[in-house]
Amino acid sequence: MSNMAEKVSAFEEVCSVFDWAADHLELDDSLREILRRPWRELTVSVPVRLDNGKVQNFTGYRVQYNAARGPYKGGIRYHLDADIDEVRALASLMTWKTALVDIPFGGAKGGVQCNPRALTTNELNRLTRRFTANIHHILGVNRDIPAPDMGTDSQTMAWMMDAFGQIEGHSPAIVTGKPIELGGSYGRTAAPGRGAVFVLEEAMKHREMAVQGAQVVIQGFGQVGSWIARLLPPLGFNVVAVSDVRGGVYDPKGLDVEQLLAHQKEAGSVVRFPGAEPVTNQELLELPCDVLVPAAVERVITQENAPRIKARVVLEAANHPSTPAADDVFNDRGILVIPDVLANAGGVIVSYFEWVQNIQQYRWDEERVNVELKRIIIGALDTVQARVDGQSITMRQASMAVAVQRVARAAEIRGFV
Ligand code: NAD
Repeated sequence: MSNMAEKVSAFEEVCSVFDWAADHLELDDSLREILRRPWRELTVSVPVRLDNGKVQNFTGYRVQYNAARGPYKGGIRYHLDADIDEVRALASLMTWKTALVDIPFGGAKGGVQCNPRALTTNELNRLTRRFTANIHHILGVNRDIPAPDMGTDSQTMAWMMDAFGQIEGHSPAIVTGKPIELGGSYGRTAAPGRGAVFVLEEAMKHREMAVQGAQVVIQGFGQVGSWIARLLPPLGFNVVAVSDVRGGVYDPKGLDVEQLLAHQKEAGSVVRFPGAEPVTNQELLELPCDVLVPAAVERVITQENAPRIKARVVLEAANHPSTPAADDVFNDRGILVIPDVLANAGGVIVSYFEWVQNIQQYRWDEERVNVELKRIIIGALDTVQARVDGQSITMRQASMAVAVQRVARAAEIRGFV
């Protein structure tokens, strides 16, 4: 992956946007010092007995970045690249994301460095239980609430809830993104994608860009990417290419997303979708289109490929898909970037609804979830938009300015400094 080649710290990249916001806001030095580093980092060994009888030792992390605005909140990632630097970067992003959309959480992230596709269901169950047991003392309904991320899903959350419950007593609100049967929220699975689609449509309309027939390319066809692909065509967008870790498929006339989902279910991948041209993940990013949606891994758009990207809008459904150097290229070329902290915030917004429902022991219907999701995420977009229009700054800069100001204010009122 590009991040390996560049050897630049992911956390330092995220901090560069924070530093810009801190300068812009003329933030007090002591506050800057507090907000620029994680509050707590826990690294644990996760020994797992494999089905073949041998024990393999994995490494797991939970980074609690900042809780000035409320309990720590953030996903758990199972991926080979989920090292401490990546988890720290993602924990920082979560802090700014919850602040930007103004929900009462701080920011955290967790991960286990593993390839979940190489493990059986039983092995994943054991790994999740051991990881949860090893970090449970820093979790809590009012302390730190995990959720799914790359390589984890509602099943993983069910195992986490159960493992936590065995130690602390039944606590559905300890994780979000659970299966509906165990207290999950309607609309949570689709939420990151749905939120991204709400924001894309509004941001394009704000700039008087045509939505009807706009061609969209999506990298990643998992929980986030596949929902974006599903929700766009009814609005008039045309999804022309998608990919997963094995490769991509392209049809300039447009892909039939429902058929593609059926193919993926059967074949385990989008590759070899009948009638579409095969493309690599690198080629896919540079295809002619109006909207490019990175919805897979970090730092796939760099200084190297950014000049060749043809999209007019980049919707960052993944976290941290563009490096700061790529961002500069986009700004110079007048490409609109809808930043991760805004674009994919729908996930944590509906996680917040799930937590609220669990605490109230009351269930909302899906319509209510989607209406409130739209109200919150479009509210955040409007706040960002007002700053972009008034101060001639980018959407990423505006988002960070709003977020950092809110976290700094909470830290100040609490008396952190
Ligand atoms: P997922 O595991 O469900 O899907 C990931 C997709 O990316 C899969 O299609 C996979 O095949 C593909 N992929 C993996 N490695 C790749 C590579 N090197 N090149 C191209 N494709 C690759 O994960 P997800 O939950 O959809 O997460 C995707 C992104 O969205 C991540 O950045 C995640 O942090 C972010 N996100 C997820 C949520 C959530 O609730 N799931 C919420 C907000 C943001």
